[in-house]
Amino acid sequence: MIVGVLSIQGDIEEHEETLKKAGYVPKRIKRPEDLEGIDALIIPGGESTTIGKLMKKYNFIEKIRELDIPILGTCAGMVLLSKGTGIDQILLELMDFTVKRNAYGRQVDSFEKEIEFKGLGKIYGVFIRAPVVDKILSDDVEVIARDGDKIVGVKQGKYMALSFHPELSEDGYKVYKYFVENCVKR
Ligand code: GLN
Repeated sequence: MIVGVLSIQGDIEEHEETLKKAGYVPKRIKRPEDLEGIDALIIPGGESTTIGKLMKKYNFIEKIRELDIPILGTCAGMVLLSKGTGIDQILLELMDFTVKRNAYGRQVDSFEKEIEFKGLGKIYGVFIRAPVVDKILSDDVEVIARDGDKIVGVKQGKYMALSFHPELSEDGYKVYKYFVENCVKR
């Protein structure tokens, strides 16, 4: 199982390490050609407006839509998979939900806490200027993780989007396994 990590911005190495821990082979994706031969793609956190612009500049947007591969988006990656953020920015728009960016406000820019993840029970979530799901636009979208009344994880067919950073927690590899079992091998 080869999992590409979009390597434009963000904590690429941590994703690679966590993928290895889950038993998968990571591949750095720097140019659209690198997408060939991967079984799934991770879009890491970072700054979604910047990542969106660079994805467009390097022709990733069309190529990713065309390849039709399973994708896991974390944090800024969640934003990029969504249909809208309320501001004008470049998105892949592959999943049927909108987000509220930086939903936890300034005082709690970053924090860690236990969250409820479907089928995995309680797992550790690292939130860094995290988005949350605002509106779900289709019955095909399944909620898989919650932080109280906030929706912090969703799945739709081959796509999965998370508000938090599984690559930064001890038990985060379980989330990658969940992604592969439920979105890649479905
Ligand atoms: N706040 C960032 C954004 O909306 C996401 C932060 C992150 O990926 N850690 O782009």
